[in-house]
Amino acid sequence: MGAFYCSVCKQTTFSGKSHIFGKSHQGRLRVVLLKFLEKVKEARRMLKKPQVETFDCTQHNQKFWCYCCELEVDRNVTDGNMAVLYAGLIEHMATQEHRKSTHKFWWENKADQKLKDKFFFSNEEIDRFKAEVEKALGTFVEKEDDFIKQEAEFIRNQEKHRQEFLKSLTEVCLPRMQWQYPRIKFTGLLFCFYI
Ligand SMILES: [Zn+2]
Ligand SMILES: [Zn+2]
Repeated sequence: MGAFYCSVCKQTTFSGKSHIFGKSHQGRLRVVLLKFLEKVKEARRMLKKPQVETFDCTQHNQKFWCYCCELEVDRNVTDGNMAVLYAGLIEHMATQEHRKSTHKFWWENKADQKLKDKFFFSNEEIDRFKAEVEKALGTFVEKEDDFIKQEAEFIRNQEKHRQEFLKSLTEVCLPRMQWQYPRIKFTGLLFCFYI
């Protein structure tokens, strides 16, 4: 018996390793694993249909805490322009290091064996995921190109419209204002305003 720091309960106990068999530790462990599993499930949904988004530093820099490795890992993968959601988490959970730490964590904490396999991604899953990401990136780039073309067209049309509008204002307003100045000047301005 001696001082033992429990990273799940985030406290030092003096009951030694017998702490891990206690109700409070096992209860806390269940909560931690269920929360962790929620994130892994979300990631698993991305395997068949990866989501690519335009990178936004306020949204895509999230980290997640891996209890097994006691390590903070990037949740997404990004090149600064695009972000592939949950790709960081998926890649991490397919590494040998994560696999080893998970076995150790389960053994040390006497966690439910039935849950363990849910915290890994196999090499086959990773290969399929990579192939799907490649497709998703291709579609994303095409969509971005179309969007940029549409935006450019919109800006050109706006500019054309603005030029035509200015031209019509000059043609309509200037002769009136000069011709009837000063008495009708105010009416001339109002006329411009209502065009
Ligand atoms: Zn504990
Ligand atoms: Zn890990």
